Amino acid sequence: MIIDYLLCVVCLKHDHGMRFLLSSHHNARPAGSIIDLIVLHAISLPVGRFESEYIEAFFMGNLDVMSNPDFADLSDTRVSAHFVVDRKGKVTQFVPTSRRAWHAGQSSWPDVEGEARENCNDYSVGIEMIGDESNPFTQAQYRETARLCRTLMAEYHGITTQRIVGHQDIAPGRKWDPGKQWDWAKFYRSLSRIRNVSFKIKL
Ligand SMILES: [Zn+2]
Repeated sequence: MIIDYLLCVVCLKHDHGMRFLLSSHHNARPAGSIIDLIVLHAISLPVGRFESEYIEAFFMGNLDVMSNPDFADLSDTRVSAHFVVDRKGKVTQFVPTSRRAWHAGQSSWPDVEGEARENCNDYSVGIEMIGDESNPFTQAQYRETARLCRTLMAEYHGITTQRIVGHQDIAPGRKWDPGKQWDWAKFYRSLSRIRNVSFKIKL
């Protein structure tokens, strides 16, 4: 009885729903593209602040760049990611996965045969986790990012555990994220614990 009650409270606390805020920052993937890579990122806006409102505005194309001096560089920048995972683990989808989001920039990662392939946006799904280089990511972010990755792996069979990489891996020297705060071993443990795919994503 008590266990039932506790499980129920846990269920209520863990809302597995997905929010949708569909951005116009996307275009078609090249014909014949096979989605076989997940790129994990970290973002905070302004740097070191973990609220999601400016990130959402940035990806939606309506960030008021005059509202903060830190945003001045972003005036002509149009970017997006398929998903954002906030500090509480809440997931928002901005771009359908069949479309190309603009998260990776100049980048390269080998295909399944080991051949170098440029432009990771063409064949990857981008997940931004709210965080920075100084603060550990939250337990909820490990759990929900793993759940989201499992959902994507069930949909796109070319994505294996080895094909979940960091932005820093596909653009070394140019990008730092998700950086040293992201504990890959902990993430793999989270991934191995996920049994059910519970997210409903927009393809
Ligand atoms: Zn990044």
